[in-house]
Amino acid sequence: MTRLVRDCLAQDGPTFSFEFFPPRSTDDDRALWQAIRELEGLRPSFVSVTYGAGGSTRARTIEITEQIAVDTTLLPVAHLTAVGHSKAELRGIVGNLAAAGVPNMLALRGDPPGDPEGEWTKHPEGVEYAEELVAIMRTHGDFCVGVAAFPNGHPRSASLDDDTRHLVAKFHAGAEYAITNMFFVADDYLRLRDRVTAAGCDAPIIAGLMPITNVGMIRRSEQLTGAPFPAKLAARFAAVAHDPKSVRAMGIYETSKLAERLLEEGVPGVHFYTLNRSKATREVWANLALGARL
Ligand code: FAD
Repeated sequence: MTRLVRDCLAQDGPTFSFEFFPPRSTDDDRALWQAIRELEGLRPSFVSVTYGAGGSTRARTIEITEQIAVDTTLLPVAHLTAVGHSKAELRGIVGNLAAAGVPNMLALRGDPPGDPEGEWTKHPEGVEYAEELVAIMRTHGDFCVGVAAFPNGHPRSASLDDDTRHLVAKFHAGAEYAITNMFFVADDYLRLRDRVTAAGCDAPIIAGLMPITNVGMIRRSEQLTGAPFPAKLAARFAAVAHDPKSVRAMGIYETSKLAERLLEEGVPGVHFYTLNRSKATREVWANLALGARL
């Protein structure tokens, strides 16, 4: 029987999952599969594979999720974005994923290709918001659909209230869970959860975490989230910036501490942005497993 993320979320205890992206070169492909094999032993609840902004890596999402479904013990979730696709194409891709044995999908709008902060223009025959992609997936078959959530609000949202309303609309359209963008302060997640609860919705929101292992990742995280990196934490990293080993150790410690707090607060799951490497995630996992959290 095919497993679905909803079944993992219905079990006792938090889910534990990893995110990968489709590699562009043979060397990167080797690194991805090494990370997958090394993380498989931790028996995560599921792993997800992102969908590229355009070009050949898009087809690779389907290939990799299928390969994970067939060749590993892992449960793959395929991301799909609305960028550059008509509704008919989106339905076709959903059908291809189902045929490849991948009924778990994350429905996303995506960002404008080239300049993520540029003007968003929908495909003339496509969808405007992720909510509509959720509906396409849910009416196409018994798929388990997740969506994105933003603890600090999506950069394009006029207000946190608007942002929350649009997230809740995705749940009403049929999404069964959300995964957050990376964040570094537990209260940002907890406030998002409170806003969603106050809107009368109790859908599970999985916390997305990325261990900072070098100072360059601080700037990268700001580009990915559109939110400034927390100043107090940035100052702690700045104090050890001259010593890469200390930066890395601090990143593992801070992520472990953040995950501990979130687990104490009853998060339904933690999701790690692995950047196709396993070491940092395994170290955080070991810290949490030692604390008998998972
Ligand atoms: P939406 O939910 O459509 O929201 C986009 C904006 O429109 C928000 O500001 C929202 O508040 C607003 N909005 C929504 N509905 C309405 C409405 N009815 N009326 C008015 N405004 C509305 N990108 C990729 O390219 N590939 C990936 O694989 C990928 N994976 C991701 C995984 C996660 C867990 C996360 C958090 C993000 C991921 N992204 C990915 C990035 C994501 O595509 C972008 O952040 C994108 O800008 C927003 O996508 P969304 O699905 O949240 O869009």
